[in-house]
Amino acid sequence: MRDFITVAIDGAAASGKTSTARRIADRYEFLVASTGSYYRAVALKMMTSDINSDDVSAIQHFLGEIVLGSEIIGNVLNITIDGKSFEEKELRIQQVNKNVASYATIPEVRQRLLPYQRSQVSEARTNGFRGLIMEGRDITSVILPDADLRFFLEASAQERLFRRENDWEHDYIAERDKIDIGRTIRQDGVHRIDTGINGLDVVVAMISAEIDKILSA
Ligand code: C5P
Repeated sequence: MRDFITVAIDGAAASGKTSTARRIADRYEFLVASTGSYYRAVALKMMTSDINSDDVSAIQHFLGEIVLGSEIIGNVLNITIDGKSFEEKELRIQQVNKNVASYATIPEVRQRLLPYQRSQVSEARTNGFRGLIMEGRDITSVILPDADLRFFLEASAQERLFRRENDWEHDYIAERDKIDIGRTIRQDGVHRIDTGINGLDVVVAMISAEIDKILSA
């Protein structure tokens, strides 16, 4: 019987990754890592430090100075920067929604967050969780390509836009899609799930079925 499982989920903005990952984490006592929030926190910190996304030397200096840490609240792993944690609503203000994708394209930013994200596998183990479920854009391809299970969630742009409008949130979906497209690609061997056709309960059941196969093997 396996004592620890890693699950990687990728997909575009509002494709249902976070809700799905949280439901799976609750069900299987996994730690959940929503990596979009890490990019949002770094972007927010850079913006409040008046660092533009095209100022390479200021970005390098900033990334060299900051200390990344983690805070586990329940089964959610949140990033801290220089010891400061971030409220979810703070990471979803208009300015962050609008600019996060531009900051996330910076290679130095991605490089800085890569080992931080990978270290969360051991963070989950050390803290007694039975697995780690991590979601983002490049988790199945770059961060955890050897995860036990890998999923790619898809829904039409119209459906995803509708979801955010329902939450009264302007999340710059179309604008971010254009910037994120290059790193939001389904790799061979990654399970594809259409979250436009399948509701949250069904998506959770589909992923759970794959986890159960591993657990019962
Ligand atoms: O997941 P969420 O929509 O909150 O992500 C915010 C932004 O962070 C994305 O639009 C993308 O630019 C960036 N991101 C990324 N790689 C990840 C997760 C998020 O580039 N693994």
